[in-house]
Amino acid sequence: MQKVTTEAVETADRPGATVRGLAAELGTTDVAINHYRLDPGEAFAGGMHTHMDQEEVFYVIEGRATFETPERETVVGAGEAVRFAPGDYQQGRNEGDEPVEALALGAPKESTDVRVPQPCPACGDSENLRAIPAEEGFAFECPECGADVDPGA
Ligand SMILES: [Zn+2]
Repeated sequence: MQKVTTEAVETADRPGATVRGLAAELGTTDVAINHYRLDPGEAFAGGMHTHMDQEEVFYVIEGRATFETPERETVVGAGEAVRFAPGDYQQGRNEGDEPVEALALGAPKESTDVRVPQPCPACGDSENLRAIPAEEGFAFECPECGADVDPGA
């Protein structure tokens, strides 16, 4: 058994959210667990994305988080949870006036296939781009033709 006190865990160096990685502290093998504290205007992730190789569950402990999908927006309040299957696009934000405290669970633990909903301008065969962690932020690559793409271009 491993026990962890959230407040004692060092926060990740990540702008726009206070994130504590509980998985490393607990030594989990099959599930990713991150504790988030979002001030008003902050977000869980940089933008709309999906994990092709991981399902995600967000459990809201305090406050109200707004999750946007291509179809709709859903407010998830304290004591509520929301689940996204692999391939479901989503982004979660704190659009309220109070802080949001939430746990994000992902399984399997490692995700290496993250996509953003941007069509490939090079081949036109893919409706999304693969996001690859880079030195600063992400690099983007077409999963069909392999082109390096700047989604902002
Ligand atoms: Zn392409």
